[in-house]
This record gives sequence, C-alpha cells and structure tokens, in this order.
Amino acid sequence: MGKCLIIGCGGVASVAIHKCVQNDEVFEEIMIASRTKSKCDALKEKLDGTSKTKISTAQVDADNVDELIALINDFKPDVVLNLALPYQDLTIMDACFATKTNYVDTANYEPEDTAKFEYKWQWAYRERFEEAGITALLGSGFDPGVTSVFAAYALKHEFDEINYIDILDCNAGDHGYPFATNFNPEINIREVSAKGSYWEDGHWVETEPMEIKRVYNFPEIGEKDMYLLHHEEIESLALNIPGIKRIRFFMTFGQSYLTHLKCLENVGMTSIEPIMYEGKEIIPLQFLKAVLPDPASLGPRTVGKTNIGCIFRGKKDGKDKTYYLYNVCDHQECYKEVGSQAVSYTTGVPAMIGAMMLMTGTWDKKGVYNIEEFDPDPFMDALNKWGLPWKESFDPELVD
Ligand code: NDP
Repeated sequence: MGKCLIIGCGGVASVAIHKCVQNDEVFEEIMIASRTKSKCDALKEKLDGTSKTKISTAQVDADNVDELIALINDFKPDVVLNLALPYQDLTIMDACFATKTNYVDTANYEPEDTAKFEYKWQWAYRERFEEAGITALLGSGFDPGVTSVFAAYALKHEFDEINYIDILDCNAGDHGYPFATNFNPEINIREVSAKGSYWEDGHWVETEPMEIKRVYNFPEIGEKDMYLLHHEEIESLALNIPGIKRIRFFMTFGQSYLTHLKCLENVGMTSIEPIMYEGKEIIPLQFLKAVLPDPASLGPRTVGKTNIGCIFRGKKDGKDKTYYLYNVCDHQECYKEVGSQAVSYTTGVPAMIGAMMLMTGTWDKKGVYNIEEFDPDPFMDALNKWGLPWKESFDPELVD
C-alpha cells in the first residue's frame, strides 16, 4: 500500500515499528530515522525478514528542517510518523509542508525552555496544510489519541450530548525500582510537576500540582490513588465536543513515586533552568534523565496492568446516561509480543493505526486536525484488531 517514514527510535517508536512490520499489507516500506542510527539498525536487524515490510534506516537531526526535507525527498514517504520528542513537532511539520507529505504525531509541541504544552503552535499550520493538500493528524497515541477517539465514538453512538468527561489513566505496573519513569523521564516529569488544570464551564480552572486526589476502583486492577493533571487532549476536546461542561484528567501515582518526586523537586533536580556545573552549562532535569533507568529497560521487569479510559456523562433521548470506555493492557503480554512494557505499547499501537488511517485514505481531510475530528469507527475496529481491545460499561463507578 505505501511508505512511512518514522522519526525517533525510542520506547514508543519501537512498538509502532513492530506493529507496522506486522501490518505489512499497509506498510510495504518503512524508514526508521533518528538521532542515534545504531538504535534504528538494531531494530531493523531484529525485524528484517519477519514480514514483507522493507525496512531502511537513516541518521537525522529532527531539529534541522533542511536535513528532514532532504530525507523526505530521498525516501518519498506517504506519511511521516513523528515519534521523536514534542520539541521536534514544528520542524517536522515544516519539512512535511515543504515536501507536501502527510504528518502524524502523538504529543503536542512544547517549547524546550518553558514546560507549557498547548496546540496553538500546531493549529497555526492549518491553512498552509489545507492549501498544500496534506493532512496533519495530531495526537495519535493513547492519551491523547485513543481517549479522544473514545470521545468521538461515544458522541457518535451513545449520546445526543456529552456534558462531563473524566479521563482516567491507571498504570498499576511494578518495575521493582524505587523510582523510574515509564516513558521519557524528562517529558514525564515536566508533565507531572506542572500545575494541574481542568476545563469547566468554558474556562480553565488551575490547581496546584497534585492538589486534587481521588481513589478509584479500576476494573481488572482494583483501588488506586489518582491525581488531577493538566493534559493536552482537554484543550481540543473542549472545542470539539459540543455541549461539554467539564473535562478532567486523572493519573494514578503510588506514594513512593510521589515521595521521590517531591524530594527531587525540593533539591532542584527537576528544574529546566540551566545551571553551571564545572564550567559547563547543564539542565538539572536532563542530568536526572541520564541517571534514571532507561524506560526501554523496564520492559522485562514490569508486571501488572494498565487501564486507561474515559467516563462520559450526558444525555440520550432526553435521559441522563453514563458510559465508560476503557482498555486494559498487561505489561508482560506486551513485552512478550514486542519487547516493550504497556506504556510504550499503548502509545505505539495507536501511532501505527493513525499512520494507517492516512496511508489507506480511510481518513482523508486536508488541513491540521486533532484525532477526534475524524470518524472514530475504523480506528475503534483497528484497536480491537491490533492489540488494544476496548471494553464498555453502562454502570461505572463515578468520580466525585
Ligand atoms: P524516547 O525518549 O524513548 O524516544 C525519543 C526518540 O526520539 C529517541 O530515539 C531519540 O533519539 C529521538 N530524538 C530525540 N531528539 C531527536 C532529534 N533532535 N532528532 C532525531 N531524533 C531525536 O521517548 P518515547 O518513545 O517515550 O516518547 C516518544 C513520544 O511519544 C514523545 O513525544 C512523547 O511525548 C510521546 N508520548 C505520547 C503518549 C500518548 O499517549 N499520547 C504517551 C507516551 C509518550 P536518541 O535515541 O538519540 O535519544
């Protein structure tokens, strides 16, 4: 069917690449291009010959638009799947625009020097992408991604109007380390040490970091503490779900994780302000990343499950209705299949599916769109087929 250029070769990319190779009818050819080419070569060596997908590799600095343009012109992909870091979103979008190539990512742009993520920078490409006749699909991971598709599906099939959404992200995995992050530590810690916020009655309500705590009894997992965080899909769902009154996002954290994080914060290790150390400028959070376990090394040791989903409340045929859509994923099952734990798996699978939606022309709208703006049905079918089956409940426990 076509060619996909995958940028980045970390935890999420590794899963997406395994899935592209499994899906060789669609992904006839892929190129894996990242900063460290040896990682791309190692993955190619592992996967070559396991399916019909032809794999090539390249070195690229995704901060450099000219390098990206040269690579895209050389490989001529149908889609560029950006699985590098959020800092590279705009340079990769620039290169896609210059070469008239479709673009997919899993996380919105964040300037490296201010831990603030919002869509305005990427939405600013709308008209240019529309005129160029190409598509940018934003946020094709799990959250954002699957949670946003869940919202579009609930609206299409279960509700006349959705008024409340609670997005619940539970990772009950245990990796046995006192402190480690399940995906890129720098991105993860920036996210959880920021102020929380939720959307209510047309505006943001800001909270202190981890100020709002709830306990929830997750299906197939049990009771866990969860905390309200700011999360990027709230911004686009607030615009795309008519009649919405409130959207909140909660993520589970164990007490040990929070105690370690507090201590690291108190001593200044999570700061993104550069400091001088022995004549060299370093960023404490980047140094911390270097001493923490590599998330990719957690796969073999992580046991337990994740449960991520959304509770919707609204109206159907004039009556109040509640609906919960979620996916449960087992860390060890993921590891057996693709050599990664469930946090990378739950992001990498929808990244592959998003690229597939554009490559097959199933989703074909020109411009820049968040994932909930497309027809959710083919994506929901693909989740069941490609390893993230979803479950539904019409009588879930609610979050107060
Ligand atoms: P990793 O740190 O494991 O991987 C990032 C990859 O990008 C690495 O291979 C890295 O190269 C490469 N990279 C970084 N900078 C550049 C650059 N300038 N040029 C080329 N390559 C570069 O991160 P993850 O796999 O955990 O996360 C990937 C993305 O997925 C992130 O944007 C993250 O925010 C997003 N994400 C989204 C989720 C969702 O549900 N929507 C959930 C989890 C993550 P090198 O190997 O040299 O370091």
